[in-house]
Amino acid sequence: MAEHDFDLFVVGAGSAGVRAARMAGGFGARVAIAEDRYLGGTCVNVGCIPKKLLVYASHFSEDFEDAGGFGWTVGKSTFAWKSLIQRKDVEIERLHRVYAELLAAAGVRTVKGRAGLADPHTVVVNDKPYQAERIVVATGSWPVVPEFPGSEHVITSNDAFFLDELPQRVLIVGGGYIAVEFAGIFAALGSATTLIYRGPLFLRGLDHDIREFLAAEMTKKNVELLFNTTIEAVEKVRGQLKAHLSDGSQREAERIFYATGRTPNVKGLRLEALGVKLDARGAVIVDEDFRSSVPSIYAIGDVINRVKLTPVALAEGMVLAETLYGGSRDPLNYADIPTCIFSQPNVGTVGLTEEQAREQCGACKVYKSTFTPLKHTLSDRNEKTLMKLIVEQDSDRVVGAHMVGPDAGEIIQGIAIALKAGATKATFDATMGIHPTMAEEFVIMREFQLEWH
Ligand code: NDP
Repeated sequence: MAEHDFDLFVVGAGSAGVRAARMAGGFGARVAIAEDRYLGGTCVNVGCIPKKLLVYASHFSEDFEDAGGFGWTVGKSTFAWKSLIQRKDVEIERLHRVYAELLAAAGVRTVKGRAGLADPHTVVVNDKPYQAERIVVATGSWPVVPEFPGSEHVITSNDAFFLDELPQRVLIVGGGYIAVEFAGIFAALGSATTLIYRGPLFLRGLDHDIREFLAAEMTKKNVELLFNTTIEAVEKVRGQLKAHLSDGSQREAERIFYATGRTPNVKGLRLEALGVKLDARGAVIVDEDFRSSVPSIYAIGDVINRVKLTPVALAEGMVLAETLYGGSRDPLNYADIPTCIFSQPNVGTVGLTEEQAREQCGACKVYKSTFTPLKHTLSDRNEKTLMKLIVEQDSDRVVGAHMVGPDAGEIIQGIAIALKAGATKATFDATMGIHPTMAEEFVIMREFQLEWH
């Protein structure tokens, strides 16, 4: 009789937890996973997947307009938010079934209910204790809304996917991925949209040119950008919300959407009581093998607050399972993680920003190109694309690639492989373009705009 019920007990069936559980099961470990909300976590239910579906939906308004430039006459179009949300919900339910099947196929036992830890080897779900040699905390993160008068009236991304109606007017607060993506979605679907950000320019941490360029493009697409502004209070007036802004003005809207960051989900787990060390932001502190300060307890995904991206969570789950049950494996390399912000137009980015390169590299060259995508020569849409490469002079290595434009995520994914392989500018130059594409611009940039030593 084994000492424990399970080799591994995973708490939280999001991207990180499901991947770790499935892989550990595949290696022959006896695995259970507990989830009290929905299989697939944030990404599948209130994040990446439904967000991308909403982005697709919202782009049709421009596509219908652009079609005219190509000889099409498109009849009067109408949009039904309820229908989109219903169809999205059906797809998410399908994904729940897929996740359940994948877990079952890997021999993982799914336990429905909220889990808490009773001791370093015991997880309790619905008052029932489960003994495990190792426990993995993969509970993700949760949107945070700052406290202010009337903060109870605002919504977060958790609510935005289930609204009964598309708001006619919406205020979005924050300058991160979620705020920028939802501003694009609401504006393109027809909501009068204002994005309110406390700093001078949104998307802090990204390349400065990219941030400025995106701000200009979003303004063209009817997103009102209010920088250096905060909301001081919100009140409900005749069914509307009235926001009192820091500049003394007021704005009315049907919805006020806060996208002001996410906090690690550790409430009720009793981690600190067991000696698991958390950092100042409540994230579980782990070593490079994802082991916490209690040797039998591990943590992966948003709850460790390293890089809050689904592919990173998946990679952490895989590395953990391989390290514990698949033989040894190198620690996860967090360098050059590509990302895409599904703003309109998209932002794709990998490697160092110009500002980071100035600090971390010696002499560098910056190649920049701004152009009108071919499609918009006939659509007459006033949308521009920006591409930027940062090259370290001594090594000739491309250390950063950034883009604002359609399908930037699709394009930067390929460029990220080149960066990971250590590609030089000479390799980019020796690569044939695919004509006519936007992506070919990355291999035909010859004149640098800026150089520093
Ligand atoms: P972020 O942490 O990216 O951004 C939070 C934003 O809110 C920042 O602009 C921040 O300002 C601002 N903010 C924070 N606190 C306050 C406050 N008290 N008052 C006013 N503004 C405030 O969070 P998000 O919620 O946008 O996204 C969470 C994570 O999810 C991201 O880290 C991202 O990794 C991930 N994500 C990834 C996506 C993708 O890959 N496409 C899509 C969506 C999310 P400041 O900059 O001044 O600190």
